[in-house]
Amino acid sequence: MNFAPDEEFQTTLDAIRSFVREELFPLEETFLLEGFGSVLPEINEKRAKAKRLGFWLPQIAQQYGGMGFSLVEHGHVSEILGSSPIGHYVLNCQAPDAGNMEILIEDGTQEQKERYLDPLLAGDIRSCFAMTERDHPGSNPTWMGTSAVLDGDHYVINGSKWFTSSADGASFAIVMVVTNPEAAKHLRASQIIVPLGTPGFEIMRNTPVMGKRGQGYGTHSELQFTDCHVPVANLLGEHGAGFVIAQNRLGPGRIHHCMRWIGICERAFELMCTHAVRREVAPGKTLASQQTIQNWVAESRTQISASRLMVLQAADTIDQQGTKAARDEISIIKFLVANVLQQVLDRAIQVHRALGLTDYTPLAYWYRHERAARIYDGPDEVHKRSVARRILKTYT
Ligand SMILES: Cc1cc2nc3c(=O)[nH]c(=O)nc-3n(C[C@H](O)[C@H](O)[C@H](O)COP(=O)(O)OP(=O)(O)OC[C@H]3O[C@@H](n4cnc5c(N)ncnc54)[C@H](O)[C@@H]3O)c2cc1C
Repeated sequence: MNFAPDEEFQTTLDAIRSFVREELFPLEETFLLEGFGSVLPEINEKRAKAKRLGFWLPQIAQQYGGMGFSLVEHGHVSEILGSSPIGHYVLNCQAPDAGNMEILIEDGTQEQKERYLDPLLAGDIRSCFAMTERDHPGSNPTWMGTSAVLDGDHYVINGSKWFTSSADGASFAIVMVVTNPEAAKHLRASQIIVPLGTPGFEIMRNTPVMGKRGQGYGTHSELQFTDCHVPVANLLGEHGAGFVIAQNRLGPGRIHHCMRWIGICERAFELMCTHAVRREVAPGKTLASQQTIQNWVAESRTQISASRLMVLQAADTIDQQGTKAARDEISIIKFLVANVLQQVLDRAIQVHRALGLTDYTPLAYWYRHERAARIYDGPDEVHKRSVARRILKTYT
């Protein structure tokens, strides 16, 4: 399979790459040293510029105002955007909004689309997705404590969620709740839209992650629902279809993440090599002349290139045959690339020595934030177990 972009698409990719390098890299220093909030006005200017240039919603169909790329094509874009910590946000294809847009397009009613999807596509509002709970295993989403009980034409929600990314400053949450406790386990939950500010819905606090609570978009919050009433019209899809909707959302979402991680790897690799050829360990003798460094360069190059091919292959299977046919490929790339990412970042930091631990390069930021890659959207162990079980089944 040849995943090389054709000439026209390559021109678009080159233009997006130039935009990221020329317009977004210069914002990095303030972003890394002072946080998301301090650079938000500039980020919003860049968003407006990206929109004017037509670099907006690469993952969304043209009929909804997006660039209409296939998953393979969006994979190429996602890699470029991943080289900057704010790349996805500026083109409005950031998690969790990208997944929520997909849900609303696939399962939203006309009214839900007008009220929630349109402003999300326009970049006027943000959203969050609340599934994981502190007291229940996120890796088994069929077992949750938060419930919604029908009361006339309203659902009444009670329970709590945590690690809800980007809830701080969001306009609405898509909340996964148990609505059918007696049903078969994959049919117990539903997804309901809950606007922030609804009485009974509170953000309790932003959880500190790797020593930082973050700001606005870059936060992970604990949520509390206490007799929170929302109209039945806020149900997404069918009553009891929450799990199916969540599964559909995760397939393409994992491609987006994996290609973003490959973009991070490429940037870390570039920084590592640039530093290795410049830094002298003795007069006239650079780090690049040391065999250990050479091994890291060769190993990283091999791992990144191999990972890219596997992710694009999985994206192509989804494009051609749908998410279900790509189940194993998606699980494999999820744990493969998450681990390659950790290794490449770790080597790049080691080569940068003490500098690698500062926020004068993006390496430490990614090292803190992307450790989570092995946990969210399914921990490594869960993906390995699913793949191995399906493989072993064919031998029995
Ligand atoms: C930075 C970050 C952002 C997040 N954002 C969101 C968000 O926006 N919305 C949201 O709903 N959630 C979010 N999450 C939560 C995330 O989805 C969960 O952490 C994840 O699903 C794992 O659930 P858990 O933490 O409850 O761990 P558990 O499910 O309790 O698992 C704990 C550990 O047990 C092991 N394990 C579990 N099952 C198996 C198995 N079958 N076989 C072998 N080992 C197993 C794994 O090592 C796993 O890491 C986020 C998490 C992080 C770290």
